[in-house]
Amino acid sequence: KNDKPFIDLISGIAVSNVGHCNPKVVKAIQKQAGKYLHQMVYGEFVQSPQVKLAKALVETLEGFETKDKLKINQVYFTNSGTEAVEGAMKLAKRFTGRPEIISCRNAYHGSTQGALALGEENFKRNFRPLMPGISKITRNQLSDLDKISTKTAAVFIEPIGGESGVIATEVDFMNALFERCKETKTLLVFDEIQSGFGRTGTFWALEKYGFAPDILLSAKGMGGGMPIGAFMAPAEIMGVFKDNPILGHITTFGGHPVSCAASLAALEEVQEIIKNENIVAKSDLFKQPLVHPKIKEVRGQGLMLAAEMGDFNFLKKVIDRCIENGLITDWFLYCDSAMRIAPPLIIKEAEIRKSCEIILSDLDSIN
Ligand code: PMP
Repeated sequence: KNDKPFIDLISGIAVSNVGHCNPKVVKAIQKQAGKYLHQMVYGEFVQSPQVKLAKALVETLEGFETKDKLKINQVYFTNSGTEAVEGAMKLAKRFTGRPEIISCRNAYHGSTQGALALGEENFKRNFRPLMPGISKITRNQLSDLDKISTKTAAVFIEPIGGESGVIATEVDFMNALFERCKETKTLLVFDEIQSGFGRTGTFWALEKYGFAPDILLSAKGMGGGMPIGAFMAPAEIMGVFKDNPILGHITTFGGHPVSCAASLAALEEVQEIIKNENIVAKSDLFKQPLVHPKIKEVRGQGLMLAAEMGDFNFLKKVIDRCIENGLITDWFLYCDSAMRIAPPLIIKEAEIRKSCEIILSDLDSIN
C-alpha cells in the first residue's frame, strides 16, 4: 500500500542525516532556485552560496591541523562522493609527483574507474584496466604501515569503514599512520563521505583523533538530500591545481548553487542536532535492547551502526521481514552478514524503541 508508514534506518545511504525534506533545507533550495541556477563553469563569477558553504565547512575544522601544521582552508566542490575521490587522487599525484596510492582492504570509495581501483576485487574484476599503482593495507595492522614509502602519493582511509561493515580505525593505528605519512611525506586522505556531517555523533569522525588529514572528502549527508561533494585541503596543497595546466581539475556542475544552499542549511542543522540531541544516547538506545542469541554484536559509533548476525541468508530473511513490518534496513557492500543501522540523526526515542522491537520480533520469528 502506498500510504504505509516506514521507519528509515539507512537514510538512503547516510544521506538524510537531517531527515527527509528538512524544512530548512527545502526553504534554502526554494530561495536559491528563485535567484539563479547554474551560472559559469570556471569560477568567472563568485557565487555567494559556494563561498558561504566553503567558509562554514572550513570553520568546522577549526583547531585541527595537518601533519605539516597547516589548516584546511580551501574547498573544491564536486557533484558526488566518487568525484571527490577522483579529484583528491589527482591532487595527491600532482602535489607529490608520485605514482602510487594506498587504500584499506574492504574499503569502498566509489564506482568511477579511479575510485573503483581503490576498492575490492569482486567489484573490479570485470572492469579492467582500472587505474594502476594501487596497493592495500589492512586497517589497524601496524606492520602494514611499512608499505607506505616515498613513492606513495597518498593513503586513503575512512576513519570508520562504512561498506566494510562499520569498522573503526583504532586511535593508536591512526596516530602511527599519521606519523608514517609525515616521515614519507605522503598525503593522508580521510574519506568522510559516509562518516561526516554528524553521522558518528561529532560533526566529523576525525574529531576523535584530534588532527586533520591533508585532504578531507565529503558528500552524501553533506547535501541534506541534494547532490554535492567536496575535497578540502590547505591552500599550500590545493594551489597546485592552478597551473601546469591551469584549470588542473574542472567540473561543470560541481558546487551547483542550489546544492550549496541546501548544503549550508544541512550543515547548520547538523550543528544544531549535535548540540541539542544526544547522538551517543541514541546510539545506546539501539545497542542496549539489541541483545539476542542471533546478534553477535552491535558495533559502531553514534548512528553509524552494524548489527552482526554472522550469516547472509539469515540476515536477508530478517531484512525482508523488517521491510514488510515497516522498517527499512539493508546490509553492507563488503559485509553481507551485518544489518545497517544508520537512521536520520533526528530519529526519536520512540522510533528507536519501535525499530528494536520490530528487529527482535523478526529475529524470533525466523529460524
Ligand atoms: N566513499 C565512501 C566512504 C562511501 O560510503 C561512498 C558511497 N557509499 C563513496 C565514497 C561514493 O560516493 P558516491 O556514491 O556519492 O559516489
